[in-house]
Amino acid sequence: MNYFNGIVKLANGVEMPQLGLGVYKMTDSTETIRAISHALEVGYRAIDTAAIYENERETGEAIRQSGIPREQLFITSKVWNTDQGYDETLKAFEASLQRLGLDYLDLYLTHWPVGETFVDTYRAIERLYEEKLIRATGVSNHHIHHLEKVFNVANVKPMVNQIELHPWLTQEPLRNFCNEQGIVITSWSPLARGRLMDEPVLEQIGLKYGKTPAQVIIRWHLQHGFVVIPKSVTPSRISSNISVKDFELTQEDMMKIDALNRNERTGTNPEKFDEA
Ligand code: NDP
Repeated sequence: MNYFNGIVKLANGVEMPQLGLGVYKMTDSTETIRAISHALEVGYRAIDTAAIYENERETGEAIRQSGIPREQLFITSKVWNTDQGYDETLKAFEASLQRLGLDYLDLYLTHWPVGETFVDTYRAIERLYEEKLIRATGVSNHHIHHLEKVFNVANVKPMVNQIELHPWLTQEPLRNFCNEQGIVITSWSPLARGRLMDEPVLEQIGLKYGKTPAQVIIRWHLQHGFVVIPKSVTPSRISSNISVKDFELTQEDMMKIDALNRNERTGTNPEKFDEA
């Protein structure tokens, strides 16, 4: 089989699949269950959801229908902004777990660094970790100064930072900082929400390997060592996005893709979240 099944090791030794399915904007219940079920069938073992996506129930349903043993899956969810704070996060986690119908999560993240409460949110995530309700701790959309505030109170550093990252937004300073701190990067909107598909450089590189621009981008994330969570509800895309085991981009092609950076976001800048 040509499906990619590599893993990355988190700071505590837990193994996380390097390629997973993102499920943001999967709103139709039947379509969501069908998409996740298809992904699990073709080899995905990690699902990235969040309370705000309003599809934790469907995610749990697809997991149960798959019959795949729970310990072979890696399930991530996130605490939404209106639920941040210590007690609120503990409560929000319990609600997520119930909707998913699971008794633990592999990874739980602070979705955005809201106001000053994100530090308390992370303390609650640490408590969930101590209580073995999650296998790893993490955050999302945290810049260096947010992470430094978290470090001041943390017993255990976040093991993952999930950030917007793709060839138009390569985030080198933040990546380097996370690397030095032993924090694994997960790339969200890894395909720039599908907008990178017509980028000529990616088309040209794809032709050389007989691969689509999406496959080239996914390989670029994997070869950089990022966890990557492309979203699709389209079965053929779900399959092709994970069929990236049989080729390797040369250093030169990696650098050509790196050079596409223009610091362009498709989503909100965490610095300006309150203004969004
Ligand atoms: P992606 O970069 O994954 O792009 C998804 C879009 O690309 C969809 O429109 C999809 O269409 C299309 N697409 C997927 N595969 C292909 C392909 N092979 N060829 C052409 N088009 C394709 O965007 P997302 O914003 O969804 O990011 C991925 C995941 O990251 C989310 O689902 C979520 O889990 C996470 N995320 C986290 C955030 C955070 O704040 N922590 C913020 C945003 C996302 P279609 O579905 O119609 O096939």
